[in-house]
Amino acid sequence: MYDTLKYRRQREEMVEKQLKGRGITDTNVLGAMLNVPRHFFVSEALMDQAYGDFPLPIGEQQTISQPFIVAEMSQALQLSKDDRVLELGTGSGYQTAILAAIVSRVYTIERIHTLFVKARGLFDALKYHNILTRYSDGTSGWKAESPFDAIIVTAGAPQLPEHLISQLAIGGRLVIPIGDIHSQELIQLKREKQGVSKKSLGGCRFVKLVGEYGWKES
Ligand code: SAH
Repeated sequence: MYDTLKYRRQREEMVEKQLKGRGITDTNVLGAMLNVPRHFFVSEALMDQAYGDFPLPIGEQQTISQPFIVAEMSQALQLSKDDRVLELGTGSGYQTAILAAIVSRVYTIERIHTLFVKARGLFDALKYHNILTRYSDGTSGWKAESPFDAIIVTAGAPQLPEHLISQLAIGGRLVIPIGDIHSQELIQLKREKQGVSKKSLGGCRFVKLVGEYGWKES
């Protein structure tokens, strides 16, 4: 696997225009997005579009999120390098790789086997040794490895899976899109010593979170 100057330049432009230009200021996030080769996370036919300002199909009717959304969610997680992070919805593995470039350990769960296998192969090839993958319905979280400093859900949920809060450390952050199947609101929750604080980051559109505490399989 090789990176090229052409893609490096496209990443620089992506970071300037799509991210800094729209209010992403977290230097860890900007640095990760400058360095992680997003084109490896899409099929060869789509590589030249990998740094465009839009999501792309990754097979199995799923998508790799638009770069800005990846940056916005990562920034909202308020990450620091010793953090342990849980991701629900590995998909292409791109968001996972961004997290792994910033924090010490990332746990990621994917429910579609082909995507799980592909992403795991990519993490090996790109030498991400701090990513733990799991093939299952992630809606119940990963209790054995909890508490997490941050949890990110990269598929749209019909409502908040409340038990995810209990898998957060005190001070931990959860970022999750909640809404109907057509549009959702990106929500940032923080587990405080007492209770939970909540903030809306605006509208978004994700594929469905399917599982026991998500949408039912149709
Ligand atoms: N972060 C990914 C987003 C992929 S789309 C990327 O940028 O590529 C969302 C992913 O969530 C899909 O791969 C879908 O299969 C997965 N997903 C949906 N419901 C899930 C569940 N209950 N558990 C684990 N993964 C789930």
